[in-house]
This record gives sequence, C-alpha cells and structure tokens, in this order.
Amino acid sequence: MIARAQKRFGPPPVSVTLVAVSKTFPAEAIAPFLAAGHRVFGENRVQEAKAKWPALRASYDGIELHLIGPLQTNKAREAVALFDVIETVDRDKLAGVLKAEMERAGRNLPCFVQVNIGGEPQKAGVDPAEAASFVTRCRQVHGLDIVGLMCIPPDGEPPGPYFAHLAALGRQAGVENLSMGMSGDFETAIAMGATHVRVGSALFGRRPPAG
Ligand SMILES: *Cc1c(COP(=O)(O)O)cnc(C)c1O
Repeated sequence: MIARAQKRFGPPPVSVTLVAVSKTFPAEAIAPFLAAGHRVFGENRVQEAKAKWPALRASYDGIELHLIGPLQTNKAREAVALFDVIETVDRDKLAGVLKAEMERAGRNLPCFVQVNIGGEPQKAGVDPAEAASFVTRCRQVHGLDIVGLMCIPPDGEPPGPYFAHLAALGRQAGVENLSMGMSGDFETAIAMGATHVRVGSALFGRRPPAG
C-alpha cells in the first residue's frame, strides 16, 4: 500500500548501499560474500585492512572498501592506498593531510564528514552545529570530494531523531549521501533517508568483545 502510494505520489525511492562491515572477521569469513557478488565493505582499522584486503583484491575485482573508523594523520598515506571511500573526515588537519596524500597518490577518494550527532565527548565527529561549515571548508579550502555525512548515534537511545537530524544537516550542507544505520537500526535509518547502511554483526555474526 505504501509502496503503491509512493509510486503514484512520492519521489523515486533512493537506492541504499549495503556496506558490509567485516572488521575483526578473517578473510575466510569475507570470501563467501565476495563469491556471492557483494563488493562494498567497511573496515575500521588501517592496520587490519592492510593485513586482509590486498590478497582479497587480488582475487576479486571491483571491491569498494570504506574506512569507517577514526583516522590518525600519520596513517593517512596508508589509508589512501588501501581504501576507496573515507567516511570519517572530522577535522581540518586530517582533511588537509588526506588531500595532500591523495594528490601524491593520484587518487581522488570520495569522503564523508563524520558528525558527532549526539554531542558525546568520547565520540569522534564534528559538532552538528559546525557540520555545514566544515563541509564547505573541506570542499573549498582543502579541495576534498565530500559526498555525504556519516554518524553513529548514542547507545541506548531511540536512533530515529538522530538520523532525522543528520538528514537535515545533509540538506543544509548540500550533500547527497547519508551513511547511517547499523545492524540494530538500519531500517530506521533507511526510513530517515540513509543512502549507506553499515551492517556488521547481522551479516557476519557476533564479534568478540573489543579489546
Ligand atoms: C562496527 C561498526 C558498524 C557495524 O556495527 P554492527 O552493529 O555490527 O552492524 C557500523 N559502523 C561503524 C562505524 C562501526 O565501527
């Protein structure tokens, strides 16, 4: 019923990219997804990606690997070599170093700006109030190709309002994509306009507790 109404009256549904988050899982656990045709994956650590993905890329074409974890500037060179999309740009220093490394490598990677949507002190990301101006600076001052916003809402709270807030910030900043939603809340995120959902445990199973 809803789909029929959308078809008659609504905008065309946006397509949603499934970023399969393979962090902590070994190459043997990832290979079946590649064999089945899936190509978009997410990792949160540069060192781990370096250990796993070059061999997988040698076996499978067309892989698109997203960095979804925090990036230190001293790892930017490796990140630019290993990843195809950087989802966690959140400060000027990193934006500048990333651009320099991309020029050096001759790669212009699409990037997302990470927004600390719950304003949590322990979490990475730009302040929501600064998201739009930071996107503008990344584009105009640093010359990065910013394609979207990314967020991780606070644990233990209904995520819908945070996703809606990110969607509003995305419109304000003039970006096309929203990376939001994980195993527990990707349906809510899609309802709020996610174009990329980052799903790990629902695909790969439970991870060992972070050490
Ligand atoms: C681990 C992780 C995910 C996936 O989490 P699941 O709950 O396993 O789906 C998504 N986004 C980021 C940034 C992550 O670190």
